[in-house]
Amino acid sequence: MPRFSGKVALVTGSSNGIGRATAILLAREGAKVTITGRNAQRLEETKQEILRSGVPEDHVLSIIADLATESGQIELMNSTVDIFGRLDILVNNAGAAITDLEGHIGVGTNVSVFDKTMRINLRSVVTLTQKAKEHLIKTKGEIVNVSSIAGGQHAQPELIYYAMSKSALDQYTRSAAIDLIQHGVRVNSVSPGDIRTGIYETMGMNKESVENIYKFMESRKECCPIGTIAQPVDVANIIVFLADRKLSSYIIGQSIVADGGSSLVMEVQAHDWMELLKH
Ligand code: NDP
Repeated sequence: MPRFSGKVALVTGSSNGIGRATAILLAREGAKVTITGRNAQRLEETKQEILRSGVPEDHVLSIIADLATESGQIELMNSTVDIFGRLDILVNNAGAAITDLEGHIGVGTNVSVFDKTMRINLRSVVTLTQKAKEHLIKTKGEIVNVSSIAGGQHAQPELIYYAMSKSALDQYTRSAAIDLIQHGVRVNSVSPGDIRTGIYETMGMNKESVENIYKFMESRKECCPIGTIAQPVDVANIIVFLADRKLSSYIIGQSIVADGGSSLVMEVQAHDWMELLKH
């Protein structure tokens, strides 16, 4: 029997990237899955990819919704529970690195970017978790949040509010985990480094520029020690691990970093230390 047989999962931001890969894995492993996003065409692509792997059509519920709105969230939660009857796994994955259209960065970044970023990356997690709580308590379920290494200790003035939203999300994961474990609900998160998804294109970059960024990072050990930018499924595998109580039951309120070593290199360690010693 597949390991998520009988379980119901809701994966936000599953019309693309990490969320899509996660929904596919969960569905292939037996879960009934609600997939969602604003882009109808990309959401349909996710659905078709799930169905191509032999998953029955009644195991996939596809809902077009803006997660930054209360009505979108209510529709998502109510439809999932009405149609599938329960909720076992909530993956709070939807997010965006929103840029300032006037090109400001750092402290001068327009505050409207702050509002939009916090609304999708942080507030939507808080409010959807509130809506999911009663259902997850009934099933002793799991929440997996998708954070970022951008929320770590290093500065990120180019995407100052994005980084702030992920730092706050990490604290939310820890505190929510302790609050909810008393009811048997586990909360954890994953903090990816750079992953090949639609995130840069959503920021307005064209495919060629995105490829140039990836190539640059892959060629620099101070950017990406492993030398390759990961695929969405590399993060999805970790999300699914954290959603599987048999495998990860004792992990509570943690964030697993998956970044090919990026966040571990700094200062001289990013260069050839032995080479420097020769001079
Ligand atoms: P993608 O752009 O490929 O996917 C983002 C997903 O979020 C899409 O499905 C998009 O759906 C959804 N989304 C964004 N805003 C909304 C909204 N208002 N309402 C509903 N859905 C929304 O990016 P990723 O897969 O990379 O991003 C997934 C998560 O991973 C994010 O939280 C991101 O911060 C995080 N992350 C990504 C990294 C990377 O390098 N790719 C690194 C670290 C963290 P739609 O457009 O259809 O609305």
